Amino acid sequence: MFVSSPEVAIPTLSIEQRIKHVVNKARTSARRVGRDPAQIKILAVSKQKTVADIRGLLIHGFRDFGESYVVEALPKLDVLASAGCTWHYVGVVQSNKTKRLAQHFDWVQSIDRIHVGRRLADARAELSTTALNVCVQVNIDDEPTKAGVSVDQVPDLVEQLQQFPQLQVRGLMAIPNPKAHRDATRHSFRRMRELFEKLQVQTSAHWDTLSMGMTGDYEIAIEEGATMIRIGTALFGPRI
Ligand SMILES: *Cc1c(COP(=O)(O)O)cnc(C)c1O
Repeated sequence: MFVSSPEVAIPTLSIEQRIKHVVNKARTSARRVGRDPAQIKILAVSKQKTVADIRGLLIHGFRDFGESYVVEALPKLDVLASAGCTWHYVGVVQSNKTKRLAQHFDWVQSIDRIHVGRRLADARAELSTTALNVCVQVNIDDEPTKAGVSVDQVPDLVEQLQQFPQLQVRGLMAIPNPKAHRDATRHSFRRMRELFEKLQVQTSAHWDTLSMGMTGDYEIAIEEGATMIRIGTALFGPRI
């Protein structure tokens, strides 16, 4: 039986067509709710994609790239070291990889326990003179197998992370349950925005990132307040 999935990029489209499609849809969604499209950053999630694929976006002005697997990512970061990319780690953070993350990435969006925050801060102090940008990952739909902290644990974790001068706490990241209906997804994004705004009061001026929305749901995410959408499939084509 054929089961259709939501908006999968058609492989035969050119990279120019894919970019245009995503950028136009993002703009339209922003304008629909009176937001300035320039305030929404598109993070190109390049996991399982090659250096050549990444270069295809670089020549069109993309600079922010997301990766989910440290071992897969590092050779790509190495080859592209002088390309001026900003690298975001969006995968599960394993304690034994924190040193490599702190050394090679500019952002870690998926912090969900103080232990890894401390390890990242310690490693960053040793290996870099600049702070590591971090987001707290929120398990917004309380899925048992998903990374992220529950909503009620977020304020404490944010406060604890802010004690480390080597970490710049930028905001929140979430991946809603992909099986949920669109109304439920919208509701999850809305709760993320409420949490993000509530914490704005107690955080620094650098609290500016609400990272939510992927290929299947980025339009809803923008309507509900995302400042960064993380797009893989719609930009690069399907992952095998
Ligand atoms: C893979 C991934 C994405 C991109 O997913 P697409 O549906 O291909 O756009 C975004 N965020 C995270 C955390 C991911 O792991």
